[in-house]
Amino acid sequence: MTETRQGIGMTSARTRDRLVQRLRDQGIRSEAVLAQIREVPRHLFVDEALASRAYEDRALPIGHNQTISQPYVVARMTEALLDGFEGESVLEIGTGCGYQTAVLAPLVKKIYTVERIPELLRKTRQRLRDLDIYNVQFRPGDGWEGWPKYGPYDGIIVTAAASKLPEKLLSQLSSKGRMVIPIGPPGLQDLMLVTRMNDRFEQVSLDAVSFVPLVHG
Ligand code: SAH
Repeated sequence: MTETRQGIGMTSARTRDRLVQRLRDQGIRSEAVLAQIREVPRHLFVDEALASRAYEDRALPIGHNQTISQPYVVARMTEALLDGFEGESVLEIGTGCGYQTAVLAPLVKKIYTVERIPELLRKTRQRLRDLDIYNVQFRPGDGWEGWPKYGPYDGIIVTAAASKLPEKLLSQLSSKGRMVIPIGPPGLQDLMLVTRMNDRFEQVSLDAVSFVPLVHG
């Protein structure tokens, strides 16, 4: 390990605690989620040039015109998905660099994740393997279609903003499943929690958020 890398490692123990405290102050309550925010080495999900800023509570660029999600939003979404979660399998749409995937992975049995940029997916698959995360299955493709093969899913988490609720994702949610998804145009998105009760879908708005769009096709 180089001195620079060690330096980052040393500051990050303190800076990670500071990040966790900040999320606590902002209302994140799940100790399991907060522990994951502390554990997951977010500096390994961004370019080395941005590593020193990895524990700030903000989104950062990761290339391909995409971003790594803000820790608060990742914590909020994970907490909302898992509160009252019954089951095992989660479908994730918008893998990106895999930070959300890594935070969620130890808290559920299995994640199926779909990303439309194959190059990003390839790097992320390797990154998660390097972090000893093995309960994730990856697929390049269009998230609007979901991933019917392994459905229905007990949870669905969408990390790009959809213009409206994707019908195919609703149909891939199990009878008591939960879905967390940002809905709306750029700059005006609501983080929605959709809870399925057999044929009924209950929707509540959790927060205002800002995501890159869930692109069509
Ligand atoms: N989950 C990531 C953030 C993802 S950013 C994190 O934890 O940091 C949103 C991602 O959604 C981008 O990688 C983008 O390429 C992907 N995306 C956008 N539209 C998509 C679609 N229709 N299907 C699958 N992935 C999509």
